[in-house]
Amino acid sequence: MTTLTAQYDLIIVGAGLVGASLACAIAQQENASTLQIALIEASNEAQDFAGENFDPRVVALTQASQNLLNNLGVWEDVVQARACAYSDMHVWDGEGTAAIHFNCADVRANHLGHIVENSVVLNALRKKISQHQQIRVIQPARVAGLKNGSGVEVQLGDGSVLVAKLIIAADGAQSKVRELTEFETREWDYGHKAIITTVQTELPNQATAWQRFMRTGPLAFLPLPSINDKHFCSIVWSAETELAEELMQLNDAEFSKRLGVAFEHKLGKILHTAERHAIPLRQRHAKTYIQPHIVLVGDAAHNIHPLAGQGVNLGLLDVAALAQEIERALLRKIPLNDFSILRRYQRQRLASNLVMMSAMEAFKRLFGSNSLMLTWLRNTGMRQLDSITELKKIIVKAAMGIH
Ligand SMILES: Cc1cc2nc3c(=O)[nH]c(=O)nc-3n(C[C@H](O)[C@H](O)[C@H](O)COP(=O)(O)OP(=O)(O)OC[C@H]3O[C@@H](n4cnc5c(N)ncnc54)[C@H](O)[C@@H]3O)c2cc1C
Repeated sequence: MTTLTAQYDLIIVGAGLVGASLACAIAQQENASTLQIALIEASNEAQDFAGENFDPRVVALTQASQNLLNNLGVWEDVVQARACAYSDMHVWDGEGTAAIHFNCADVRANHLGHIVENSVVLNALRKKISQHQQIRVIQPARVAGLKNGSGVEVQLGDGSVLVAKLIIAADGAQSKVRELTEFETREWDYGHKAIITTVQTELPNQATAWQRFMRTGPLAFLPLPSINDKHFCSIVWSAETELAEELMQLNDAEFSKRLGVAFEHKLGKILHTAERHAIPLRQRHAKTYIQPHIVLVGDAAHNIHPLAGQGVNLGLLDVAALAQEIERALLRKIPLNDFSILRRYQRQRLASNLVMMSAMEAFKRLFGSNSLMLTWLRNTGMRQLDSITELKKIIVKAAMGIH
């Protein structure tokens, strides 16, 4: 049997939020008009959600991520489809008395960020990708094998072969490319599952992101736009696996009741709960992001607990850094796979991703502890933090990605 081999300048595996953004960021560069880019995606096209039907997967995008999407020419489409700006954030300790409140006025901003459905951003990116002639989307197609020599040879599930000097793995947490190329990772199970769904609440969400920390894990209510005078939030309830499984077994009415109690009825009754999904949570960080001809970006390189809503925001910072290095290579006519280009990307991103991941791990342990000492420490710390305006400003700016 003969197999067709197609030659590209670069191959991006995975057209999720990170891979699709990266394809746009590279294709829009001045010197990239003749580049041949293959974008391989395993799933079918993103779904459309409308009216009172929301995508269960949402992300809290920082100002830095908004700026990037704006530079790609997709932010306008995102806002026009639907996005919910939030002006406040309430975080409190469910096992104690301490709370922190952040408001966008603290940092003289109009909002702290936006809650956006994944499918809304993906659809806007796909529309932009269709305007870039250099990008060939290959979908649905799954990378099944890979040979790395003087270039990379990628085998798809249907037996076809693609060849390039550089392959970028944006294929998410379970990255096949990372596995096939034997990147080493540090990883462990959080012992948590995140239950995600959309709920209708009795009271308006006040354009506020709410987060209650419990010993069994954090519960977040993220604001969505109101429709027909009905009020909605997307929830992420991270709970120890046993509890999460018990919650998944409940019928909708029982689940809504348990959720209302866990959330201390801050927004009145939970009137309706949409279909629930449970996602096992794992901490994972590749020890290096690069090998000759291969780069990891986004969740393929790093996975963190969703408690701070930073996963895709870190991935989009990877996109900005790698696109900038590729732009530099194109300008100076350096081969894209030149190891100095890849090394510069890794230098910019690996250490700072590690800092964020360590901070989230410390946070999770601080709130997951029964110890009286740690309970005292987090309550005292939270109360003091809430009263130190300058420190709060620094934290808000860091969370917004504008420090
Ligand atoms: C419950 C929860 C809540 C979250 N909330 C937030 C938040 O508020 N803010 C935030 O910043 N982050 C959040 N995150 C993290 C965020 O969702 C991820 O960081 C982000 O989706 C990663 O994007 P990605 O493109 O790297 O990977 P993915 O979104 O996983 O995309 C990978 C793509 O690769 C494709 N693919 C996989 N394997 C193959 C293959 N072999 N061949 C071809 N294609 C393949 C997949 O189909 C997919 O489209 C949350 C995560 C969870 C679980």
